[in-house]
Amino acid sequence: MSEAPQDGDGGQCCTVRGLVKTYRGARGTDGVRANDGIDLDVRRGEIFGLLGPNGAGKSTLVRQLTGLLRPDRGSVHLFGHDVVAHPEYAARLLAYLGQESSALDELTVALAAETTGRLRGLSRSGARAEAAEVITELGLEGIAARPLAKLSGGQRRLACFAAALVGERPLLVLDEPTTGMDPVARRAVWSAVDRRRAERGTTVLLVTHNVIEAETVLDRVAVIDEGRVIACDTPGGLKALVDGDVRLDLVWRDEAPIGVPAVAELADRAERTGRRWTVRTTPEQARELVAAVTSGPALAALDDFTLATPSLEDAYLKLGGRHQGLAR
Ligand code: ADP
Repeated sequence: MSEAPQDGDGGQCCTVRGLVKTYRGARGTDGVRANDGIDLDVRRGEIFGLLGPNGAGKSTLVRQLTGLLRPDRGSVHLFGHDVVAHPEYAARLLAYLGQESSALDELTVALAAETTGRLRGLSRSGARAEAAEVITELGLEGIAARPLAKLSGGQRRLACFAAALVGERPLLVLDEPTTGMDPVARRAVWSAVDRRRAERGTTVLLVTHNVIEAETVLDRVAVIDEGRVIACDTPGGLKALVDGDVRLDLVWRDEAPIGVPAVAELADRAERTGRRWTVRTTPEQARELVAAVTSGPALAALDDFTLATPSLEDAYLKLGGRHQGLAR
């Protein structure tokens, strides 16, 4: 194919139907069914999240969307084009930031960005100009002349993100893009994503298990568990599943004062992480608990407490149940 595929579908960016992928096991062992009948619709111009615990099948799904892995069954269309029949289309329709960067590691930040632009069909001067623009946008000027292999994990990640933006594609697929980044770099990533969506209508598919980030940037979320989509909605819609519940976090100075009856009663119900106890309950009961722990001997033992409305993580726990929850 010498030309970029023409646009074939009005409102949809990505349509997945009945996607199944099983990794073959070692001789004599069962394979792993990593995707078990996935249906998905991503609209143009939205920031869409794939959320789920490790091993849920998110990366397997994304690698099939990017044409890197062939499904056993099912279909994937990007902007109306069949990517299972023509995996080579994918590279023209999307920019993919995977978990690994090894291919570009020997290049400098500037050259990695420029090379990506060249590979995507830009002229030498066009690629150089775009690379310089993206490097400035992401605040990478200070390290532009350094090889990726010599950078910290977070810096390398940001440099790979920069490269992914050069030679613009209508779909950006980002697999855990902010892993290892400091807050400044994270903010640079999210504003670059937001700007492309607002100014150019770019669609973003974001794989994450970081609930806090997901909640603030995503328009819609599919929760993936054991190779299936178990829910798909806006973050607000998912949170409505746990409407009515609140979360009470108690942080004790040292040992929890088990001698206090209200605290003893909580000991069995709370999720306990070191000195932090978390309880999900009704607002009425939370009020009673707060009253009990903010008076008498419990207060003396209390370092901090917070009362919060449901988060996306609470919704996920209600949906998935079996797992320990997602990373914060
Ligand atoms: P996630 O991205 O949600 O963490 P993955 O798609 O990486 O999940 O993995 C889904 C399941 O498939 C896991 O059980 C994982 O161990 C398995 N898996 C992933 N890649 C391979 C592979 N190349 N060979 C065999 N099993 C794999």
